[in-house]
Amino acid sequence: MSERFIAFEGVRKSYDGVSYVVRGLDLDVAKGEFLTLLGPSGSGKTTTLMMLAGFEAPTDGTITLADNRIDSVPPHRRNIGVVFQNYALFPHMTVGENVAFPLKMRRLGKAEITERVRRALDMVRMASFETRRPNQLSGGQQQRIALARALVFEPQLVLMDEPLGALDKQLREHMQLEIKHLHARLGINVVYVTHDQGEALTMSDRVGVFNDGILQQIAPPHALYETPANPFVATFIGENNAISGEVVAIENAVCRIRAPDGSIITGHAGEGLKEGARATLVLRPERIQLAPAAEIPNRFTATLKEIIYHGDHVRLRVSACGCDDIFIKVAAAQDIPVQSLGSTAVIGWAPEDCRALALS
Ligand code: ADP
Ligand code: MG
Repeated sequence: MSERFIAFEGVRKSYDGVSYVVRGLDLDVAKGEFLTLLGPSGSGKTTTLMMLAGFEAPTDGTITLADNRIDSVPPHRRNIGVVFQNYALFPHMTVGENVAFPLKMRRLGKAEITERVRRALDMVRMASFETRRPNQLSGGQQQRIALARALVFEPQLVLMDEPLGALDKQLREHMQLEIKHLHARLGINVVYVTHDQGEALTMSDRVGVFNDGILQQIAPPHALYETPANPFVATFIGENNAISGEVVAIENAVCRIRAPDGSIITGHAGEGLKEGARATLVLRPERIQLAPAAEIPNRFTATLKEIIYHGDHVRLRVSACGCDDIFIKVAAAQDIPVQSLGSTAVIGWAPEDCRALALS
């Protein structure tokens, strides 16, 4: 186990003294880790980050940074770089002066400041904007400068709250990789907030999924995708077909679920399943096979409802197992056995490709 750098213990936050927007958060972040907090709007991500930055105090519980309670460290000693959604640049300073500001505060030499500002501006592709003022930049350009300013002093911890939200897709993807490479090169800790699951999966060592103020699951991207802890995580991360049914048998890690039309589906059993109880079977669109091999036990007749063209792949909407909207992801249109809507085909999937999760 690598060294613990950040720890939340029993942290709760209420703004109004009545309802809690972060409820009972226990979370450790390892030294050097890139952790992303992912969740829908209002789930408590920004509040969690503000508490870590020291801008909001927890109502209950403690937060420690390198084993020091965060509230005992004055802000200028925290050595935390921040890029928040609406964290404004200094309007009266040029771009170069904005980026130089944290270095001047730290009393670095003039030559080193010049060199570091140049590198930071190069990194965000803004080198030619050094003498402009913030009001001469687009929102996306301003956010890139904010990013350069947060990283220029190579802080031990960088907090970012949806820093790429205002950028167009191409630049966003470029910056995702830049931030990730920078993290690897500098060995710093990053705690990143986003509601974009693709961004979270791309960038992070681990992702903590929030809903309604509760940390639902924290795991590396691959584990979140392959072994979601509950139906919320399964649906929020990637795409998912959810088939609700009744558990008819459980043996070891394998279970049988009765689907709405009575057909029996064999799958991997998640934790907390009980015979006779309701469960949600989660199944990724890309794991459904259109011409299932003979040994695959889950084989059902599907009726084609819609073909949706996506350029690099095709999606089929079918009804099967008594469910109306089952989505199947197919690499190319020529792989589809039937093209006319309303016709039927056999579909199937391996038991290890679907998981039955207890309803919470
Ligand atoms: P997220 O970043 O996941 O969208 P937030 O942490 O911003 O979520 O918000 C969580 C909840 O707390 C929301 O219901 C929001 O309205 C409320 N909230 C956030 N900041 C404040 C504040 N300063 N005062 C009162 N309520 C707030
Ligand atoms: Mg937020």
